[in-house]
Amino acid sequence: MESYITISSLNDFIFCPKSIYYHGLYNTFSKEIFQQKPQIDGNYAHKTIDEKNYSTKKSILQSIDIYSEKYGICGKIDVFDSVTGKLTERKKNIIKIYDGYIFQVYAQCLCLIEMGFIVNEIVIHDLSKNKNYLIPLPSVDMEMFLKFEETIYKMKHYSIEEPLVNINPEKCKKCIYSNLCDQSLC
Ligand code: SF4
Repeated sequence: MESYITISSLNDFIFCPKSIYYHGLYNTFSKEIFQQKPQIDGNYAHKTIDEKNYSTKKSILQSIDIYSEKYGICGKIDVFDSVTGKLTERKKNIIKIYDGYIFQVYAQCLCLIEMGFIVNEIVIHDLSKNKNYLIPLPSVDMEMFLKFEETIYKMKHYSIEEPLVNINPEKCKKCIYSNLCDQSLC
């Protein structure tokens, strides 16, 4: 059976390709052992959704499993209104809309479309500032959509043996895997 790329690992891969290898290793441990505050805050943002407390309306889909055979990706959506076609991903304290954030909502959007839903709007919501960022649909932002497809391709063909180029010491300092990583610069 072909393995699927998890949507949550897209951001990690962009941060540093090698981190997805350690992400896989750490998944076998209790999350509390290695997560630092930013990761814990991120999970808190999803807690209400994971517990399906966001809304009792049947048209609001929360935390459902999604997948795309075409892209070989799987994961969960945050919130999707199946009547209006609005897909929302909530995050805590957004400093910048990184490409990884956009790729995550693109992945969710493309999975939903493949599963037969119509997606009309994508929003990333900053819980701390109560601010919405409207993300153009992949069908109208061809440049970003091609970057997304290229990232999926690279992830599928990535090997841990590949030497990293342009390792950024600032990233290594922030990386939760730096203690394990043999290429860490900190
Ligand atoms: S420590 Fe540095 S090189 Fe290693 S996974 Fe983290 S960011 Fe990448």
